[in-house]
Amino acid sequence: MTHLLDIDNVSRHYGGLTAVGEFSGHIAKGERVGLIGPNGAGKTTLFDLITSYTRLSSGDVRFEGRSISARKPHEVARMGIARTFQNLRILPNVTVFDNVSIGALGHVGHSPWNSLFARRAISERISRLTMQALERTGLESLAGELAANLSYGKRKYLEIARALALQPTLLILDEPAAGLNDTETAELAGFVRTLSAEGMTILLVEHDMGFVMSLCERVMVMASGQKIADGPPGVISKDPKVLDAYLGSDVEEDAPAAVKAAEPIGEPA
Ligand code: ATP
Repeated sequence: MTHLLDIDNVSRHYGGLTAVGEFSGHIAKGERVGLIGPNGAGKTTLFDLITSYTRLSSGDVRFEGRSISARKPHEVARMGIARTFQNLRILPNVTVFDNVSIGALGHVGHSPWNSLFARRAISERISRLTMQALERTGLESLAGELAANLSYGKRKYLEIARALALQPTLLILDEPAAGLNDTETAELAGFVRTLSAEGMTILLVEHDMGFVMSLCERVMVMASGQKIADGPPGVISKDPKVLDAYLGSDVEEDAPAAVKAAEPIGEPA
C-alpha cells in the first residue's frame, strides 16, 4: 500500500552520535499524527530528514510513492510538504504579507526567463495565495505590519501562514503550541482540526501532551533516536516503554504523569 509519506529505515549520525537510528514509519493521507519523545530524542532531526534540511546517513523517504531523499528543501516544499520551525524563522523587519509571500513563491516558483506577461500572472497568483493564507490564519488585517511588531502568538500563526501559502498536502508543525497560553493552545488545536477536516495531513511534534493526545489520531514515540511505540493515544498513554522513556528526562513536568493524564478526548479509558 502506498502511504502519503513512507519513512524507510532512516538514520542520521553526527560523528559517533546517532540522532536518528533506523526509524521507519508511515503517514496515510488525511491523518493527524503526533511525534513525541524526551528532549534530544531526535524528533526535529527526523523532521529535518523528511524535509531535506539534513542529509540522510542511510534509508529513504518517499512522498506519494516517490523518493524525496535526494531533493533540495525547496523541491520537497514544492512537492507538497510544508513545515514550521521550532525556532520561528520569520523575517522581523519585513511585513507580514512579504513573510508569507515567500511561502507562496515557493509554491508558484519563478524563472528569470519568464515573459513580462507570465511574471505579472505569477505575481498576481503569489498575492492571491498570500492573502488566502493570511485570511486562513486571521492575519489579513496585519498584512502591512512589520513581523517584529506581532505578538508571539501571532508570530506562530505567521509561521503557519507561510507554510499554508505553499498549498501543502502534508503540514509538519514543530512545537506549534510552545510558548502559547492555555487559551491560545486551545484555539490552535481548533485551527489544526479545521485544516485536518478540510483534508490536510498533519504531522506534529509537541511537548504539550494534552495537545498531542487530544488532537492526534496516532502517536509515534521516539527515544534516543529510535521509534519505541506507534499507536492510538489511548494505547500510547498506557505503554510502559513510553512511560519509561520519560523517566529521568529533563522534560520540566513529570512526563509520565502528563502522558497518563492526557487521555484523548472522546476515547474510552
Ligand atoms: P527537543 O525535544 O529538545 O527539541 P529533539 O527530539 O527534537 O529534541 P533533536 O534536536 O533532533 O532532538 O536532537 C537529537 C540529537 O541529535 C541530540 O543529541 C542533538 O544534540 C543531536 N544533534 C542534532 N542536530 C545536530 C547537529 N547538527 N550536529 C550534531 N548533533 C546534532
